[in-house]
Order: sequence, then structure tokens, then C-alpha cells
Amino acid sequence: MMRIKGGYLRIVVAGIMLLLVFSMLPIEAQGLGFQGNRDPMRLETEFVERALHRLRPMKDSLSLEIPWISQKQINRMLLNHPRLIISVHREMLEEERLYQESLKHRERIIDPNKPMVALTFDDGPRPTTDRVFAALKKHNAVATFFVIGMYVHGRRDLLKQMVEAGNEIGNHSWSHLNLREITFQEVESQIIRTDEAILRATGVRPAFVRPPMGMLDGALKTVVGQRQIAMWNLDTLDWKHKDWQKTMASVVGHVRDGDVILVHDLVESTATNIEEMIVYLIGEGYQLVTMSELVKYRNVTSKVVRFARP
Ligand code: ZN
Repeated sequence: MMRIKGGYLRIVVAGIMLLLVFSMLPIEAQGLGFQGNRDPMRLETEFVERALHRLRPMKDSLSLEIPWISQKQINRMLLNHPRLIISVHREMLEEERLYQESLKHRERIIDPNKPMVALTFDDGPRPTTDRVFAALKKHNAVATFFVIGMYVHGRRDLLKQMVEAGNEIGNHSWSHLNLREITFQEVESQIIRTDEAILRATGVRPAFVRPPMGMLDGALKTVVGQRQIAMWNLDTLDWKHKDWQKTMASVVGHVRDGDVILVHDLVESTATNIEEMIVYLIGEGYQLVTMSELVKYRNVTSKVVRFARP
């Protein structure tokens, strides 16, 4: 009887282990979005390190001192301690939850009765993006960055810092193709891959999509679903003339409450001089807000396309 019970228990434990090991696999292997702020590979390493650290005081962990111990042996050793695995796993999930909560509650103070504009930067993150972020930070201002998916991985830390400082990250497709000229499957891949890259870098799924060159059609409409397409109404054309004086001239005297200003962080003259525009806007009494904040406080129907009812 005991033997049957023991065998049954072993099957149950093995099942739990499989689930746990699965949940620790990198995101691509799971086919699921990990709602976390950290890299799944790093999470896995951290998990093993924490579990091993807890094992150390136990007498059967003496073998841990052997320097040549293989990963396979470590895994086998950890699998002998199902309760330890479960508790470390829970601890890390709880930390993740607290981190997400802290992001939610870091709401900025915005006065709806004072004018506001959204500065939006397209085509990053590039090396020039650091300059834009520094200028925003210096003046305690935020913006929305519509990033190109294929550049996200190399600048994950920067994007995470930007989100933590209150900036918003939007989806600007994977490789900046004209979405009207590619197949539905390609549009889907351009948007979804970028969503995943941003989610993995920052822990936040982008609320807005901005199609390259503003080119949108039925395919994008289907892929975007409940989310919103962020267009703009004050185009500086900085990518075209690359002349800072012209970029400034398109804003000075023209900007109005509720505007969405389009600039490009990859344009050298913009990245180098953007502080001047930030100072001007603040000086004129504008609050610099993100797209999400602008949508919350202003009527933006001419600047934001929402296909589906929320
Ligand atoms: Zn673009």
C-alpha cells in the first residue's frame, strides 16, 4: 500500500516539476508572453542561484563546494527539493508583482486645466536617443518613443530606464516597412515581434502603434485590435530637412494645447538641440505628457485612430 502511495506521490511531484521547469523556460520556448520586467534567461540563472544559496546550509549540499559540478548535476540536485523550488518560484513571482504594482502607482501629477502637449520621437532607439532622454530628465519632462523593434534588444536597459522615468514606449513596427506594401502575415509579424521585444525590455506592452510613415490599412486595423494608432498633428519634418532652426520654427508660435508633435530621435540635429524645444514648451506653460496621458485628458480624435470600441 505504502509503495503504491509513494509511486503516486512521485508522479504528482514529477508533474509539478515539469510545470515549474516549463515556466522557467525562455519566452520563445513557452510561446507565451512573460509579464515580467527582466530577461527570462537572467531570471532562470537568478532562480538557480537563489535555490542553491538556500541549499547550502543543508548537509546534502556539500557537493556544491566542488567547483567542477555540472549544470546537469545542479539541476538534478534541485529537483530533489521540490518544496524549495516552489518557494523560490513563489518568492520571485511576488517580487515581480510588486515591481509591476510600483510602476502602476508611480502616476505623475498632471493639471488638466493647464495646457499640455505630447512630444513623440520616432525611429529609435539609436545612439542619439541617450541625448534626448538626458534632456527630458534634466527638465523633469517625459515623452513617447515610437521604437523600431529590431533595435530594442540592444537598448533594453535604456528603454527600461525611460519607462521608469515616466516615458511611454510605442510600437513603430519591427523594421520600418510600408505596412501597405506587405502581406497580412508580415504586418502581423512586424507588430507582434515588436510588442514582445518592448514587453521583454520594459515589462510594459505598448498601448499605441504608430505605423511607419503613417501608412495604415485594413491589415494593421485587424492586428492592432483594441489598441490605438497614434498619429500626430504637428509635423516638424525634421527627418527631411535635418535643420534645427526649421524644426524649432515649425513649433514656435504654432503649438496649441492638446497637440501631438512629431520629431525623430535618430536625427542628429534634433537629438542635439531638443533641450531648446523642451525649454520653450515648458516656458510657454505646457505640461509635457505621454500619449496615454494626453488621451486621458484631451479630445484627440484627430490624432489618434481607434478602430475597435474599448
Ligand atoms: Zn518612422
